[in-house]
This record gives sequence, C-alpha cells and structure tokens, in this order.
Amino acid sequence: MSRETKPKSLPACQHIQLGEQLQAIRDQLFAVSDTINGAYSKSTKAPAATKRAIDGVDRLRSVLDDISWAELPGDRWSTHIYYRAGERTAEEVERVMAEHRRNEPDCCADAPTHPEEGR
Ligand SMILES: [Zn+2]
Repeated sequence: MSRETKPKSLPACQHIQLGEQLQAIRDQLFAVSDTINGAYSKSTKAPAATKRAIDGVDRLRSVLDDISWAELPGDRWSTHIYYRAGERTAEEVERVMAEHRRNEPDCCADAPTHPEEGR
C-alpha cells in the first residue's frame, strides 16, 4: 500500500487563499439561496438543502479557523484569515502575509502579490 506523504500543516498564504475561496463560495450560495427562496416555499426540499449547504461551508470555515489558529502562532495568525468582520480585514491579511514572508521567505516567493494587498 503506497501512502502519500502530506504536510501536517498549511502555511499562512494557503490559509488566506482558502479563506477567500470559502468566502466566495458562501457569497455564491447566498445568491443561490435568494433565487431558490424566491421561487420555492420554505417547506420544500430546495430551500432546506440550500441552508444545509451554507451551514456546511460555515462549519468548514469554523474548523479551518480553529486549525489556522493552532498552526500560526502569535502575529502569524488573524481571525480575518477566515472571517471578514470589520474594516481592518485587508490590512490584517496584509499584516499576516508580511509576517509569513518574514518567517518563511521561500514559501511563496515566486507567487504574485496577494490580491488583497492591491485593494
Ligand atoms: Zn507562502
């Protein structure tokens, strides 16, 4: 049996990317929910399934928020990696990326500038 060797943690840059992907999925699911809830009664299957999909994304985000907190000590972590509350979000993500580049300069040195930083 061959076993794939997997890293036991993710660097900050990948947590940030996952946070953005999950936010985009969540935004799209809310748009899907608006369309479905506008067309079908709440007691039917589609609205309930849509709610479960959103709840599933929220659970995954919560789990990854906990994991990133455990993997990224001190200044290398921010609640804004997975949650976008308040107006300091982009600034906070930029700060985490700056810490990440200081601590792991070879991790994503060739990657383009993080999109959050250009905003
Ligand atoms: Zn990196």
